[in-house]
Amino acid sequence: MPQSLLEKNAKEVGAYQFINGRWKKPAKKGKIFENRNPSTGELLSVYAETPSDDVDAAARSAQKAFGHWRKVPAPRRGELLLKAMAILARRKEEAAQVETREMGKVLKETRGDVQEAIDTAFYYAGEGRRLFGQTTTSELADKFCMSVRMPVGVCGLITPWNFPMAIPSWKILPALLCGNSVVLKPASDTPDSARLFVEALQQAGIPDGVVNLIYGRGATVGKALMEHPDVRLVSFTGSSQVGGLIGGFCGKAFKKCSLEMGGKNAQIVLEDANMDLAVEGAVWGAFGTSGQRCTATSRVIVHAEVYAEFLERFVRRARGLKVGDGLDPSTDMGPLINARQVRTVEKYVEIGREEDGAKLATGGKKISGGACAAGHFFEPTIFEGRPEMRIAREEIFGPVATVIKARSFEEAMAVLNDSDYGLSGAVYTRDVNRVMRAVADMETGITYINAPTIGAEVHLPFGGVKRTGNGHRESGTSALDIFTEWKSVYIDYSDKLQKAQIDTYEG
Ligand code: NAD
Repeated sequence: MPQSLLEKNAKEVGAYQFINGRWKKPAKKGKIFENRNPSTGELLSVYAETPSDDVDAAARSAQKAFGHWRKVPAPRRGELLLKAMAILARRKEEAAQVETREMGKVLKETRGDVQEAIDTAFYYAGEGRRLFGQTTTSELADKFCMSVRMPVGVCGLITPWNFPMAIPSWKILPALLCGNSVVLKPASDTPDSARLFVEALQQAGIPDGVVNLIYGRGATVGKALMEHPDVRLVSFTGSSQVGGLIGGFCGKAFKKCSLEMGGKNAQIVLEDANMDLAVEGAVWGAFGTSGQRCTATSRVIVHAEVYAEFLERFVRRARGLKVGDGLDPSTDMGPLINARQVRTVEKYVEIGREEDGAKLATGGKKISGGACAAGHFFEPTIFEGRPEMRIAREEIFGPVATVIKARSFEEAMAVLNDSDYGLSGAVYTRDVNRVMRAVADMETGITYINAPTIGAEVHLPFGGVKRTGNGHRESGTSALDIFTEWKSVYIDYSDKLQKAQIDTYEG
């Protein structure tokens, strides 16, 4: 049973990759990697990287399964998703605990992550009875025109660790619903969550080869997956740096490619804002998931009239947050994912301290004593800074926010938009005209009004502009455009040769 598989994996080295409907160890021993709890250092499981022969076997089994799966009626495919997610719903608490243990965020957030996967299944299961195309007119007589969606083929899915079930679900579930087969390569920091998710699909009866799961480093296993000739589509979520590499390769290899990448999201607080709401929004946006969200609030742009009050209250709330093990219900903020991420955050704090005019308002240190001794904990950190500083421009991916003063709404919007990234942004104001101007002018894929920069719902498009994305959107109906190709169909029942644009209807 799944739980015992997880237990077994903690005691022996073995990847238990899922290839062609079977959990199996790699044929050859690859590089070993340990899965450790970032709060305690406890060893959770030991994995062996999927060797290239098995990456090949996974892609080939997906290619073989695609031939059958694409013909299963979409409503039936949708029912299978529902069945799988009913299984996940029954295991929700266990799944949330597995996530919190391996990536650290607090239980209420990992429960939300699992729920997001369940909601995604409900959404796409319904889509099985829609998957609408168009029927339309023809410029010629006795001719019928329509467009239909076709599956793409084998999808190589590469995911990060910060939403270890929600992000795989955003890719796997619409891909399957549309008739594709998939190979998932999750981040090496969260292999157990990926396995639990795939187990739910297996237990629901997904046919052999339709879903495959492999493990290992991006530069080896991820690369081998995206380069495999049977993989027609690569869907990636992660850093802009890696996304650029993947996009470059896929462009040259003529593979379909969707990229969801980094962010440097800002919250604007105007002088008429509900201050309680604005402070709570900034705390949740900046320090939820320890700031390790692509949508995290890493800049807060505050009108000069309320700057001092906002800063004082924001700092006070940040100092009051309880940092600790995410399994403890009294914890507000968990650890960072690993020691490397702690070093990155330390580096940015150092950069911030040295930048001319930046001021550390609170935090700035790794927490190393007491119950936090064995984990990767970092203090909630707030800088006062200016828009041109590196801490206000580069993605840090940790609990660090920079507060920036602006003299007007226009100036605040200009600062928000002056970014290499364009994922999400928020404005706190009660002025309807400024609300509508923010909606019209904000250069982001997601705009929040009187709500923090985090908190997407599954039935709306998710993604961003500039270095955040490459023009695609996940979630909602927009994901269907990633996981299908359009086919236009012309049916001529005139019994004669009719030439579009050349013949005209004579009446
Ligand atoms: P990452 O780019 O280091 O890794 C993401 C995935 O890509 C992992 O599975 C990794 O193994 C794989 N990978 C790495 N190098 C590869 C290569 N050369 N070829 C193929 N695959 C490769 O990112 P991360 O540290 O896991 O996640 C943090 C980043 O993800 C942040 O930048 C964050 O903003 C971004 N993110 C974006 C979204 C979004 O929807 N826009 C959501 C979550 C996270």
